[in-house]
Amino acid sequence: MTDASEMAQPRIAVLGEVVRNQIAAGEVIERPASLVKELVENALDAGATQVLVELEEGGVKLVRVTDDGCGMGVEDLVLAFEPHATSKLRSPEDLEHIASLGFRGEALASIGSVARCVIQSRVRGASLGHRIENEGGRRSEVREAGAPTGTSIEVRDLFYNTPARRRFIKRTSTELSRCLDVVQRMALAHEGIGFVVTHGGKRVFDVEASMDFLARIRRTFGAELADSLVEVKASHGTTHLTGYVAPPRFSRRDTARQMWFLNGRPVRDKVLIRVLKEAYRGFLEEGRQPVGFLRLALDPALVDVNVHPAKAEVRFRDQRPLFGFLLENLREAIRLTDMSTPGESMLLSRQRRLVREDPNQGHLPVAPGPLGSGSSGARPGSTPSGEFGFSPAPQERASSEVREVAGKDFILPQPDAGSERGIEAGSAGPDPWAPVDDLRGPYLQVAKTYLMRAVPDGFEIIDQHALHERLTFEYLRRDVRENKVEVQRLLVPELVDVSRSDLELLSGHLESLGRIGIELAVFGEGTMAVHGLPARLRHPDPEGVVRDLIEILGRTGKPPEAEDVIEEVLHSAACRSSIMAGDELTESDIQSLLERARELETDQTCPHSRPTRVKFSLADLERAFHRR
Ligand code: ADP
Ligand code: MG
Repeated sequence: MTDASEMAQPRIAVLGEVVRNQIAAGEVIERPASLVKELVENALDAGATQVLVELEEGGVKLVRVTDDGCGMGVEDLVLAFEPHATSKLRSPEDLEHIASLGFRGEALASIGSVARCVIQSRVRGASLGHRIENEGGRRSEVREAGAPTGTSIEVRDLFYNTPARRRFIKRTSTELSRCLDVVQRMALAHEGIGFVVTHGGKRVFDVEASMDFLARIRRTFGAELADSLVEVKASHGTTHLTGYVAPPRFSRRDTARQMWFLNGRPVRDKVLIRVLKEAYRGFLEEGRQPVGFLRLALDPALVDVNVHPAKAEVRFRDQRPLFGFLLENLREAIRLTDMSTPGESMLLSRQRRLVREDPNQGHLPVAPGPLGSGSSGARPGSTPSGEFGFSPAPQERASSEVREVAGKDFILPQPDAGSERGIEAGSAGPDPWAPVDDLRGPYLQVAKTYLMRAVPDGFEIIDQHALHERLTFEYLRRDVRENKVEVQRLLVPELVDVSRSDLELLSGHLESLGRIGIELAVFGEGTMAVHGLPARLRHPDPEGVVRDLIEILGRTGKPPEAEDVIEEVLHSAACRSSIMAGDELTESDIQSLLERARELETDQTCPHSRPTRVKFSLADLERAFHRR
């Protein structure tokens, strides 16, 4: 029991402003990259054409964003750090049609409460600038200060006064790469605006204001990727989709190279990520994420982008028709990408290693990490803005520190080898790898697994098992679709021992399995009998098919008539029956395999999306033998 005097004390108290702001900061400011996002958005809202982002220690020690935008006068500076102080919203009605990136008036107040900040600004046309400081929520007077037109906001020592938050900060290289990711997404979204990022005084990223979308992708991710992209362009009513998709071989484990821009803003929306993955279905290996840069313009009434203060997720109204439209058009472009696994890229990965070991290798263009196109020749040494007053210093870009970060967190842009070929490969032009020969031998069978043969401009290596598997799968799938599965009945049914629960699992689906050519019957307790399998299967493996079925049905929990289950069952059946590595093939076997493969939509990957063939062009050979 508490005594009376304690009870008289009110337990509820209104929090002070600084604590309130720190709590609000928890919503929007997680790490240095959030500072970068908020400050760069403010610069863009201020109408900047040049944005400079200076970082130290991954942004933990310093984030300074300088712009040449409209600037802030004395009255603005007095209010800038106040919570809910914004120039972008006046009335509730304004909320319905917000054109700016910010509008909550929360960011600066939050940032000011968890770091040491300085704003210097000069309004366009004014003769003098001003400055205000804010140290963990304690604000200075606004004073006159010499400053160029525009605004510079400096944030030092993030979370210096909230140690609990500081613990979530990761290694410098991780924080730097997150900051870069933010700027790079912004830079791709905003053509017409130049961006420069420095880290510890060294330039780590830049795009010039004049660069278009593709040029920005090239600068950010290198020529090899940029040259391999296929354009997407489609409209339906007020919905427009434009951008680029990359060949499946560029896929990676994360979505770092998957960028969606919705009505001009970078978004990181789970649904859109899923749509793109779905569009690549059948072309990607398990667990891989495709690479694409896509811009979606929608009637703003059909989408809510302000769900969360970090604004990365969106909410679509009327999703279904939109996703249908996206899927169809993405898939069409993906089909036009170069599905082959060129030997050249293997050579390049070797070269990349060499470059990393010895950045000064004379004959290989030095790849400047995440900073650029990879071709020093393609980068004019121009600085985007004289006003920022520093020069580009290209030799510094190869510094070991930046390089190390680059090696861990980014793929180094490729030496500019792809550019000659890239001109046709970049557009949706003819597939440069498409065989134009008559498929006649001679063939060299290596280890009874790989077939090698000369093609008009080089040679290719075919994985016979992978190719045959693709073929069998495609035929099976067609048969099922057309309801024409031919069944080969076994003279003597093959008996497979299964557990009681698996028996139950299978026995519930005997009819639908029969429709895809798998004829099973229960044969007493704990035994299944396989009576027939699709005639397409060359070396049928009844027991293997039953085991795979149990695994797939158990894992997916779906009936065999579900489309993706059918596909998986057919994959596994095809895999088990295909020409195994180790089969000796005659010349005519090989030729007929290749001829049939040519008719497929894509014969470049097996159903598990491993490559079926790898091609070395003459150019690759010349490079390998140092003829060029
Ligand atoms: P919001 O962007 O949501 O309005 P912020 O806290 O980010 O809120 O910024 C508060 C206000 O400060 C903005 O509305 C804007 O008027 C001003 N401001 C912030 N950054 C800049 C800048 N770089 N240039 C000009 N004005 C700025
Ligand atoms: Mg803002």
